[in-house]
Formats: sequence, structure tokens, C-alpha cells
Amino acid sequence: MNKDSEKYLERKLCAEVKAMGGIAYKFVSPGRRGVPDRMCVLPGGRVVFVELKSYGKKPTPLQEIEIGRLKDLGFEVFVIDSTEKLEVLSSHLRQKYLGQWVTVSGKELAEQVARRENK
Ligand SMILES: [Mg+2]
Repeated sequence: MNKDSEKYLERKLCAEVKAMGGIAYKFVSPGRRGVPDRMCVLPGGRVVFVELKSYGKKPTPLQEIEIGRLKDLGFEVFVIDSTEKLEVLSSHLRQKYLGQWVTVSGKELAEQVARRENK
């Protein structure tokens, strides 16, 4: 499967969240289009939302509105369109929410992704 496809990233996210002891629920809200693809519940009563996209694709205006609403409520919402960004997210969640020690911090990985994308 294409490693930059939304489907692949979604599967990988679910596996990652499961490995953290959480659940990445498929998130569908009847009557409200544009909510993020996955609602990830993590140990310790933590919830984050993830919108998955094929590489280079951006959220639609409707999705941006819902992402904004959730952020305004104080939730973290992540848009993931590559395995590198998924790695950043995974590292961030493990560090921030699970208090796990990670070899490379989410911030450092994010900087690596930014450098690669700005080339
Ligand atoms: Mg999506």
C-alpha cells in the first residue's frame, strides 16, 4: 500500500494509539460534516483528534471550521499527511500524555519534518 495514502496513515495511527493503550475511534457525527477522522482516547482520560490526509492534501474549509471549534474548546487536533508527521505525533503523545521517555522528542522530529519540507 502507498505509504503516503490516507488509508495507510489511518491504519498506522490506529496501531500506534493501540500500542499506547488507547483507542482511535472512527469519528462520525451525523448531521455534521467535517469532523476529524479519528477521536483518539488515551490512558489517563486524554482525548485528541486526528484528521488524516493523503500526502500534500489539506483539510477542506468545512474541516478547518470543525478543527477550529475543537481547538477553541482546548482539544489538540492534528492533521497528518505523512509517516514522518505520524512519527512526530506519536512521539508527542507518548511524551506529553503518557509521560514516556522518547529518544527523539516530538519537537525535534517536527523540526526535521519542516526542514525536509522546506528543501
Ligand atoms: Mg481525512
